[in-house]
Amino acid sequence: MNGTERLDAIVAGAGISGLTTAWELHRAGYRVRVLEAGSRPGGAIGTTREAGALVEAGPNSMLETSPLIARLVGEVGLGGERVEANAAAKKRFILRGGRLVPVPTSPGAFFSTPLFSAGTKLALLREPFVARYAGDAEETVASFVRRRLGPEFLDYAINPFVAGVYAGDPERLSVKAAFPRLADLEANYGSLIRGAILGARERKRNPEKSKQTAAMMSFREGMQSLTDAIARRLPAVDTGSRVVAYRRETDGTFVVSVEGGGGAAEVRSRALVLSMPADPTASLIAPHSQDAADALRAIPYPPVASVVIVFDRARVAHPLDGFGFLVPEKEKRRILGTIFSSTLFANRAPEDRVVLTTFVGGTRQPEMALQDDAALVATVKDELAQLVGAKGDPMAVRVSRWARAIPQYNLGHLDRVARVERLSETQTGLFFCANWRGGISVGDCIKSAYGSAERVARYLGAR
Ligand SMILES: Cc1cc2nc3c(=O)[nH]c(=O)nc-3n(C[C@H](O)[C@H](O)[C@H](O)COP(=O)(O)OP(=O)(O)OC[C@H]3O[C@@H](n4cnc5c(N)ncnc54)[C@H](O)[C@@H]3O)c2cc1C
Repeated sequence: MNGTERLDAIVAGAGISGLTTAWELHRAGYRVRVLEAGSRPGGAIGTTREAGALVEAGPNSMLETSPLIARLVGEVGLGGERVEANAAAKKRFILRGGRLVPVPTSPGAFFSTPLFSAGTKLALLREPFVARYAGDAEETVASFVRRRLGPEFLDYAINPFVAGVYAGDPERLSVKAAFPRLADLEANYGSLIRGAILGARERKRNPEKSKQTAAMMSFREGMQSLTDAIARRLPAVDTGSRVVAYRRETDGTFVVSVEGGGGAAEVRSRALVLSMPADPTASLIAPHSQDAADALRAIPYPPVASVVIVFDRARVAHPLDGFGFLVPEKEKRRILGTIFSSTLFANRAPEDRVVLTTFVGGTRQPEMALQDDAALVATVKDELAQLVGAKGDPMAVRVSRWARAIPQYNLGHLDRVARVERLSETQTGLFFCANWRGGISVGDCIKSAYGSAERVARYLGAR
C-alpha cells in the first residue's frame, strides 16, 4: 500500500457488493483499491471441500434476476463455470405435523395439498377482492399476509419462507422494505393474483426477472468462484486491511486510515465506497454524522449458524428429491430449515454421499445459533434423524457461525437507510453499497453494486 498513491476510489469491504462495485469502476478505467479486514475476499460467500463434497458456508446459490449477473460472470471469465440447479430442486418441502409436505406449484396441486385447509384455499380465491391497504402506518409482512391471504398462509407459507431468506420474523419485517415486489403488486394492481396475471406481459418485456422465474445458479466449484474471480482480476485487493477511520482534506480528498498486518497506513482517494455491514460502517461514520451512525446501529442482525453434514447416502431414508425443507415456527423445532445441497446442483458429492446444509438460529431462536459446536451438531443430527431419517455418524461436518448474520429490513428500515444516505448528500464522494440497503440476496447485491458504481463514476466524471 502506498500512502502517496492517488486513487479514484477506495472500496472498503470485499464481499460481493464491494467487489462488484470495484470491478465496474475498474472496467470503466478508474483506479480502484479494495480494502478488506478479513483474510480472504468473499465476505458471507465461502466454499470449501469436506470428504470429497463441496460445502458452502454461506449462500448455496443465487438467482439470476438481472442480465447484469450474466454480464459480470462473463467479464470475469466464469461463463464456462456457471451451473444451473437440477430440475429436481424445483420441488420444495414445508414441515407440517412433523412431515415434509411438498409445496404446491400448480393451481391443481394447491387445491389438493394437505399443507393448507379448505379455508385458506378459499382465501386465495378471495384475494383479488381484498381491498388495498388503507392505513397510514407502515405494514409488517405478517399483517400484509394475514389481511390478504389469512393466518394459515402466514404460518405455513410465509413464516417458513421468511426464515429461509432473512432468518427473520414476519411480525417485524416491513413488507415495503423486505418484499417491495409484494407491496408494489398490491399498490399497482390491487391484488397479488391479479398483479401476477396482468403484469405477466409487462414482465416478459422486462429483461429483469422476478425471483419466482429467475434461473437458480452457482459455479462448478461453488459460489466462492465468483468472488475469487472478481478479486483476481482487480488490480488491488488488500486482505487483512481494516478501515478504521477516514477524514477529508480541504480539496475533498478522502484520507482513509487502515490497520493490518503491516501496521497502520493512510490511503488517499477521490471517492470512498463503504461496502461493509452496518455496525463497522456506523463506527466509521459516527465522527461525521451521529444520526447516520445511530440509524445503522438500529438495524438488527440476528445470529445464524450453518451446519453442513456429509452423510453416506445409504444412511438417509428420505429420497432428498428437492431443494430442501423449511420449518414453520408453529412446528416448534430447533432448526430453521435444510438445503439438500447435493440434490440442488450436480457433482456436489461422490455418488454414494449426500450433503445437507442446515440453518439454525435467526430472529426466531438466536440462542440456538450461539451454542458450542458439539451441542449445535448434536441438535442438527437429532433433528435430521427425525425429519429425513438420517442415521449414524456423518462422514464430515462443517460448522460456520455468524454472530451478526443478515440485516433485518424491519419496520422503519427505509427511514433508517434514508438517514444514512443523507450523509452522502452532505459529504459528496461518500457512497454506501452493502446488503443492508437494496436487498440481501447475492443477485440484489450485484444489481445494487452496478447502481453504486454508476453513481461513483458520475461523481468522479463530474469533478
Ligand atoms: C448463512 C447465509 C446464507 C445465505 N444464503 C443466501 C442464498 O442462498 N442466496 C442468496 O442470494 N443470498 C444468501 N445470503 C445473503 C448473501 O450471501 C449476503 O447478503 C451477501 O453475500 C452480502 O454481501 P455484502 O458484500 O453486502 O456483505 P458481506 O459479504 O458481509 O461483506 C462485507 C465485507 O466487509 C468486510 N469488513 C467489515 N468491516 C470492515 C472494515 N472495517 N474494513 C474493511 N473491511 C471490512 C467484511 O470482512 C466482509 O468481507 C446468505 C447469507 C448468509 C449469512
